[in-house]
Amino acid sequence: MSKKRSKIQVLRFLVQAVFMAGLIFSFTPNSKYVSQWMLPSILLLGVFFCGWVCQLGAAQDWMAKLGRLLHLPRVRVPQSIQRYLQLLRYAFYLALTMGLAIELLQGPKNYAMMWHGHLLTLATGIIIFFLLLGLFIDRPFCNYFCTGGARQGLFSVLRIFGIKRDTEKCRQCGTCTRTCPMNIDVAHTDFVRHPNCIGCLSCISSCPKGYLKYRLMPRRKKK
Ligand code: SF4
Ligand code: SF4
Repeated sequence: MSKKRSKIQVLRFLVQAVFMAGLIFSFTPNSKYVSQWMLPSILLLGVFFCGWVCQLGAAQDWMAKLGRLLHLPRVRVPQSIQRYLQLLRYAFYLALTMGLAIELLQGPKNYAMMWHGHLLTLATGIIIFFLLLGLFIDRPFCNYFCTGGARQGLFSVLRIFGIKRDTEKCRQCGTCTRTCPMNIDVAHTDFVRHPNCIGCLSCISSCPKGYLKYRLMPRRKKK
């Protein structure tokens, strides 16, 4: 990793740390302002929120670092399985949207009453489970469960800037793919516009030759 590229990851860590401190000490920006710039930023740059701002995302990154520090075994889901597993979060997003629609149809009380008193325990349990899983797998919550990430990801396929691989020079050593916390096969992708990309730029930082760059995305060719 070159000095310039490793600086990007140090900067990302610092930004994550500031937002984590903001959550702990209650000085995070009003969610109204965050949601105002969210969609335009996704359409321009992709889902940077997940890679740089989200505290749950940051906590998983740090659990992964801890796992490595403790020399725990790391599990990399093979691409042939990841292809299907990564759809899980979209299925959860669909289920959640349908659940909310049912709630609206039946009246807000039914759905809320069904879960009354259990939601907080359930959410805490899910977060703890995924954080512990993060000791062994990169970003398991983001990869397979996060409905917010799924929603943002769907918009991000329209983004204007993305990651371009120099296909002429790259010899597909696979370092970028192995580094990607979202298990995207960067080494076999010309332009990363994958809806699961969280804009962490780890792939760019990891390429030993600097063959990955943030560039204007080409227009899709008509078949
Ligand atoms: S790390 Fe760089 S050289 Fe290796 S496959 Fe990725 S883009 Fe190509
Ligand atoms: S493709 Fe690159 S920027 Fe996107 S999630 Fe993977 S490592 Fe991060």
